[in-house]
Amino acid sequence: MEKIQMKTPLVEMDGDEMTRILWADIKQLLIEPFVDLKTEYYDLGLPHRDETRDQVTIDSANATKKYGVAVKCATITPNAQRVTEYNLHEMWKSPNGTIRAMLDGTVFRAPILVSGVRPTVRTWQQPITIARHAYGDVYRNSEIRIPGAGKAELVFTGADGQEIRQTIFDFKGPGVVQGIHNLDASITSFAHACFQYALSVKQDLWFSTKDTISKTYDHRFKDIFQEIFDAQYKEKFEQAGITYFYTLIDDAVARVVRSKGGFIWACKNYDGDVMSDMVATAFGSLAMMTSVLVSPDGKFEYEAAHGTVTRHYYKYLKGEETSTNPVATIFAWSGALRKRGELDHLPDLMAFADKLEKATIDTIESGVMTRPCAAVGGDACAGGQQPHVPRSYRVAHGVRCCSDFLPIASFADAFLLLTGGIRYLVCAECDGRMKNVSVPITALDMPLHIRKENMAKKRELA
Ligand code: NAP
Ligand code: MG
Repeated sequence: MEKIQMKTPLVEMDGDEMTRILWADIKQLLIEPFVDLKTEYYDLGLPHRDETRDQVTIDSANATKKYGVAVKCATITPNAQRVTEYNLHEMWKSPNGTIRAMLDGTVFRAPILVSGVRPTVRTWQQPITIARHAYGDVYRNSEIRIPGAGKAELVFTGADGQEIRQTIFDFKGPGVVQGIHNLDASITSFAHACFQYALSVKQDLWFSTKDTISKTYDHRFKDIFQEIFDAQYKEKFEQAGITYFYTLIDDAVARVVRSKGGFIWACKNYDGDVMSDMVATAFGSLAMMTSVLVSPDGKFEYEAAHGTVTRHYYKYLKGEETSTNPVATIFAWSGALRKRGELDHLPDLMAFADKLEKATIDTIESGVMTRPCAAVGGDACAGGQQPHVPRSYRVAHGVRCCSDFLPIASFADAFLLLTGGIRYLVCAECDGRMKNVSVPITALDMPLHIRKENMAKKRELA
């Protein structure tokens, strides 16, 4: 079997910490054996961002504008502690913030559902997709630490020299102040992206802000959405049998928790950031949430919704066992490859992306999962495996399968062997002793020589 060929390179944005480790594994074990992978590589790992004075982030965003499809690994957004840890020249801005601002996109985040992993919120039966406005607000803020007494003002100087001035606060002592902005044009493309996405997946669209408190800023969002809906989408929504619904963010939160799911929830930048973590966690795991940035002119950047999983990375550095779930990162790759296939008319590449996702889901549904999923899934992985979980853990979490102790490497191994036609479960509790279960090759057709190589590698690892 020949490797699947690509036409246009993917823009590959490498990242930091635990996800950087997963990134290399996913490429090497799950993609490169099958696809003649073409990427234009940008190292967005913090050391290289610092070396290039963050120019690499800008270059990678420009490359995305040029080629149209990017896949991004999670990256560190430095704070004061990171400046010391990495000895940085500067506290660089969030790469995601920079890329989003340059692409002016909307981020759609949807949970990956697997049977057996039940949402924490019992009423949820279908995925909730969060559409996060990806421009402006607090992510492009300007802020000052106020040293002492004085007046903070908001001043706008028009191009014609005309001034609008408002007092923010008369400080009597130290404090903080921040200025944020947004653009009618960006809110407009956000609204279009949401309405179009809702039509394409035939799901209701909800939108929420805090317009009762922010009577000018948030109200502008509400008005723009309503004007665009009334003028351009009302009829199309009626024909599609879906609705557009605006409500206050706090009301939305209460309704979401009581809902059955199966809709798109459009959120302002910060709300989307926070709510997508909440929704992802309640659906099973932050590690099971996909994220795609869609720009108004049709550029796509795929990533996992979670961060670099620092806590696991520090354990990994100490040689301790980790249980980092690669699913969302795998889906970032499959999403990007599928989109590339779609744009370049490469049905084989699109089929590969489908198979990779199916293999991932099948692997989990067959009982191989990392700790966070297993803890939520409870008896999800009771596939006839004998438990090797300490009794106390089982009692506390209701987990019946040893595979919740799978270290990260073994998750990849399980994959390797699944594609080779045999599934191994590696249990850290019983000292890495393997059990094998034969399963049919359903997901990937792997050539024999690669299968043999993988088996040899597996023996080496064991
Ligand atoms: P995080 O990396 O998402 O991790 C938070 C916690 O969620 C982890 O400690 C872990 O919980 C769980 N988790 C997340 N992803 C997981 C996975 N794949 N498998 C298993 N568990 C997973 O968020 P953070 O710790 O707040 O941030 C770490 C770094 O990532 C920061 O430097 C931040 O700037 C950056 N970040 C980047 C992005 C991005 O590039 N898109 C997004 C968010 C954060 P347990 O510890 O309980 O196991
Ligand atoms: Mg977040």
